[in-house]
Amino acid sequence: MSHTAKVVNFIKMNFAETLFFLNEDMKKHTSFKTGGRADLLIEPGDILELQVLIQYILKENIPFIIIGHGSNIIVSDNGIRQVVIKIGKNLSKCTVENDKLEAEAGALLADVSQEAQKNGLSGFEFACGIPGTIGGAVFMNAGAYGGEIKNILEEVLVLTLEGELVIKKINELELGYRTSIMQTNGDIILKAKFLLKKGNKEEIQKEMDELSRKREETQPLEYPSAGSAFKRPVGHFTGKLIQETNLRGYQIGGAQVSMKHAGFIINAGNATTSDILKLIKHIQSEVKNHFDVDLETEVRFIGEFEIQ
Ligand SMILES: Cc1cc2nc3c(=O)[nH]c(=O)nc-3n(C[C@H](O)[C@H](O)[C@H](O)COP(=O)(O)OP(=O)(O)OC[C@H]3O[C@@H](n4cnc5c(N)ncnc54)[C@H](O)[C@@H]3O)c2cc1C
Repeated sequence: MSHTAKVVNFIKMNFAETLFFLNEDMKKHTSFKTGGRADLLIEPGDILELQVLIQYILKENIPFIIIGHGSNIIVSDNGIRQVVIKIGKNLSKCTVENDKLEAEAGALLADVSQEAQKNGLSGFEFACGIPGTIGGAVFMNAGAYGGEIKNILEEVLVLTLEGELVIKKINELELGYRTSIMQTNGDIILKAKFLLKKGNKEEIQKEMDELSRKREETQPLEYPSAGSAFKRPVGHFTGKLIQETNLRGYQIGGAQVSMKHAGFIINAGNATTSDILKLIKHIQSEVKNHFDVDLETEVRFIGEFEIQ
């Protein structure tokens, strides 16, 4: 029996709430709106269903990949043969107790920052415009405007590749610039607990509004993208390097270096992942030639790239 058939049988026999989709178009699940189809995409109904499902998949040795809101991934045009597990709105509970906020991995940063504001808690404002989930943000140690997940996170509940539920404290997570230990050990983030500070609700909202305004002013939010395509090299600004290489507006197929923010690659219309990859390589080689700087991608690649 194929992996897909095995997992589908398991879901049908065990879960009431879990949704699954066969031959699913990944354009629907990525902010870049490119990529091929996944053989099987699953949206677990709650944390317990996710845990039981992963334990089954691990026991059967079935390859899988976790995604959140898809705002930092590029999916191969050849699609994904691993089972895709999407942690989204079914796992998005958020609770507040005093100055602690706990959120499930599928909760959106925009919603969580609004929840913090409603409870007069400050510290989450920086994340209000990052279009991802708590799980994706912890995995990436997302950050913006001087703030980052690392500064407010206390602990996470993870499911390890041994199928065990473990609480891990911040000092065990190796959070650095867009990195975390989860990128190497494969832990699945189920929940995160944040320690925030009491603040004034109006001032918190004002700060969030100001940051959103800045984003709209400087980022091409009207186009599909995955945000900054590259990490910031030490001592440089990526956007500036790309701009000074005269690549603003440069286009391959439907993929374009944004005119508004040269650090963003946008899908200007009907881009394929292959267009984006060619553009990434071109930018890397031009920046290397002009400035002898290596640009490392921030976005993560998922699916069957080796056969492209
Ligand atoms: C317009 C735009 C603006 C952006 N601005 C910013 C910004 O200012 N700062 C910033 O840091 N990022 C920014 N991003 C990038 C992106 O939003 C963040 O990296 C975000 O945290 C990704 O979350 P996600 O849920 O979309 O993760 P996904 O893109 O779905 O996944 C990203 C990675 O995390 C892993 N992952 C996701 N969930 C889990 C989980 N529960 N357990 C284990 N692994 C998991 C996936 O396997 C994948 O490798 C921007 C993106 C866009 C499109």
